[in-house]
Amino acid sequence: MSQRRSSGLSKSLILKGLQCQKALWLTKNPPKFDFPPQPDLEAKFKSGTEVGILAQQLFPGGIEVPYEGLSFPGQLARTKQLIDSGAQVIYEASFSFSAIFIKVDILVRDGASWQIHEVKMGTSTKSVNLDDVAVQHYVLNGCGLSVSKSFLVHIDNTYVRQDAIEINKLFSSDDISLKVAARQQSLPEIVTELRETMREDNEPNIDIGPHCDDPYECDFIPYCWQYIPENSIFDLRGRGIKKFDYYNRGIIRFEDVPLDELNNVQRQQVEATLNQQNSTDVNKVKEFLDTLWYPLCHLDFETFNTPIPKFDGTRPYQQVPFQFSIHVQREAGAEPQHYVYLVPSGVDPRRELIEQLLTVIPADACVLTYNQTFEKGVLRNLADLFPDLANAINSRLENVRDLMAPFRKRDVYRWQMHGSYSIKEVLPAMVSDLSYSGMEISDGMAAMRAYNKMCALEPGEELDALQRAMLEYCRLDTLAMVRILEALQKMEI
Ligand code: SF4
Repeated sequence: MSQRRSSGLSKSLILKGLQCQKALWLTKNPPKFDFPPQPDLEAKFKSGTEVGILAQQLFPGGIEVPYEGLSFPGQLARTKQLIDSGAQVIYEASFSFSAIFIKVDILVRDGASWQIHEVKMGTSTKSVNLDDVAVQHYVLNGCGLSVSKSFLVHIDNTYVRQDAIEINKLFSSDDISLKVAARQQSLPEIVTELRETMREDNEPNIDIGPHCDDPYECDFIPYCWQYIPENSIFDLRGRGIKKFDYYNRGIIRFEDVPLDELNNVQRQQVEATLNQQNSTDVNKVKEFLDTLWYPLCHLDFETFNTPIPKFDGTRPYQQVPFQFSIHVQREAGAEPQHYVYLVPSGVDPRRELIEQLLTVIPADACVLTYNQTFEKGVLRNLADLFPDLANAINSRLENVRDLMAPFRKRDVYRWQMHGSYSIKEVLPAMVSDLSYSGMEISDGMAAMRAYNKMCALEPGEELDALQRAMLEYCRLDTLAMVRILEALQKMEI
């Protein structure tokens, strides 16, 4: 006989179930499976909490119902007490109806009714946010509270910080009342269905599909996708192909893909992989190399972004540089000299960073980047910010060239690149003795998380070790460019 399973729901479980009922079931019945370690999401949660607390200032004077120190029944009781005593604004108000527990970010009294204000870190209202608030509305109604209006409070990324944060400019509020009300009718049925799924003894028979990463990347992808082989239809790069249409027709492996249905780039990827074939257009490589000159500076920035802009003149989510690495080659064949700058934590890095950079990169040097759009964007922002340095920065900007170009255009392709032109795929394919694997920090997101962690650390061994790892990662990015360029130069006719 099956054991009776808990049918308690929370807002996040309902949203998970709306995305995929199997994900809901697996959350309640975790499979015996070795999931790979997840990246440290602490910084993201911390950002979300900071945004939530700041948004409370839109409705000052509210009283918070805390998570910490209060049980769920305690939070419900405290909320009821605040409502009964005439509170006008309640932060994190807690409710339960039909065994669904929810918290409302900001609840505002509106005559005999209440307004819901849900705060998100994003920059617009998404469909999943409407579902989120619809559940809150449903529970409040179930508890006998009337909801007059519902709002989604999100970040306005056009806001530019000057001095103290201006709360009313940082946040934008969308009235989503009608869309939330329209979802009310279907919710009881949805909740019943989700409860039935949770009570099932067996894992729901739901196949992988576009829902696996829409609206969120599902935690169970490693488990559900374990049977998809390497070099499958899902590894094909580029647009214009409906991968699940092929999957549903049973076409999964590269061997089975009809080549005449692919575009040239995808066809090249499949053929090159199956035949372990490389291709090089030496004339195009020569054309590219002819656009470079010496001195030649290989440049890479590391940046961070935050929803709440930290410094004057920055917008929400603007990329702010905190580190650069440069390998300078004075002439062809010369040993590259390495320069690096990592901002001391907690200070605005931009002025010192650009001043240092301008002393390292000669005005007449060729500035080589990997994905010039990014480095150019950082340099343009710095030129706008420091008009006294704009001429000097602009002269470097004019000299920027992009080492990614021959790989993006597929003038050079190696089957080990898996259809990608990212430096992480290009490096091991072009330079066999250099790689990012095994590094403590091995990509830009990890570097950003490390920077956030660095800002919170006191001086000591942990901080020193983290800084060493950040310097080593950034150094490898530009050393990788030196070695990839050497590999291209060896191909030249
Ligand atoms: S990976 Fe896809 S199929 Fe599996 S639980 Fe998640 S959403 Fe559902």
